[in-house]
Amino acid sequence: MGLKQRLRAGLKRAAITGGLEASWLLARAGVMQAARGRGVIFTLHHVRPKQPRSFDPNAHLEITPEFLDRAIRQLQADGYEFVALDAVPARLAERSVRPFAAFTLDDGYRNNAAHALPVFAAHGVPFTVFVSGGYVDRTHTMWWETAADLLAARTSLSFDFGQGEERLDLASNAARQAAFARIARFILRPGEADAIARLNRIAAEHGIDAQAIPDRSTMTEGELKSLAAHPLASLGAHTISHRALALLDEGEARREMAASADRLQTITGKMPTTFAYPYGDPPAASAREFRLAEALGFKVAVTTNPGTISETSLAGLTALPRVSLNGHFQKRRYVAALASGIPFRLMGRS
Ligand SMILES: [Zn+2]
Repeated sequence: MGLKQRLRAGLKRAAITGGLEASWLLARAGVMQAARGRGVIFTLHHVRPKQPRSFDPNAHLEITPEFLDRAIRQLQADGYEFVALDAVPARLAERSVRPFAAFTLDDGYRNNAAHALPVFAAHGVPFTVFVSGGYVDRTHTMWWETAADLLAARTSLSFDFGQGEERLDLASNAARQAAFARIARFILRPGEADAIARLNRIAAEHGIDAQAIPDRSTMTEGELKSLAAHPLASLGAHTISHRALALLDEGEARREMAASADRLQTITGKMPTTFAYPYGDPPAASAREFRLAEALGFKVAVTTNPGTISETSLAGLTALPRVSLNGHFQKRRYVAALASGIPFRLMGRS
């Protein structure tokens, strides 16, 4: 891991920052208004006070409650109306001039109830939490958190990626980041379950209990039940195992989706109308899954493909794009920039 890779990571961050700053200026100047479309669906994960960690490869998946508050105030100032995710189709069908924003939070973290709910409640903003049955029932682990813990605490590690033991250099955070990317590539391919089992075994050999991580950080059935009772909260399905569905055979993908909806029904007493594809990017969520979601009766299903929502989204309600509120970019003007849709036009993605 050399200077080159570190520079590349730094440049990527700088390029995004530059794009957001430029988009903000363009939005303020009133150009590219069509990019805003009719509204935006935001993706959040952890919402909690920042805990300083020296190695934090998941920092992008975490925002503070203060930033969430600022984001909502910015959207209010820009004239946005807040709608529940499952109200998006009706909203698109009606002729409203005000743009809308919907909030979603993936994976069912406990901090969503502890830190995000009070902010949403203070502003009367509805939100949907996507829940994986395997986290609720403490049967599945979160590899990205396991890997972060495993790599953080040591300077080298022996890991078998399938071609024999290899020594991973972890002498610096840049080296840890490279090792994390390698583990991610090892896991996000066909055979994800076996790769995760291997990671968990290696973690256990180093005294890390992978199962304890979601047990500590995600909501139990009881906690989900009380969250779902809040008038602003809804629960959506997010599979059982949190696997990249497009890499599974069709029967298994369908079972994952259907079983997670059934599991939520046992918690809330009603079938969920919304679904989020785990990982949600093109390698994990493809046209086959979009069809499955429709066939299984989900009203709305969301990806993590970046973009805003327009009338044309009505033809693809089980493949809606979302905009991530990223922990590396917690500035109020970046929220306005993202909601403008201009960054995705600049990237050529919508
Ligand atoms: Zn997820």
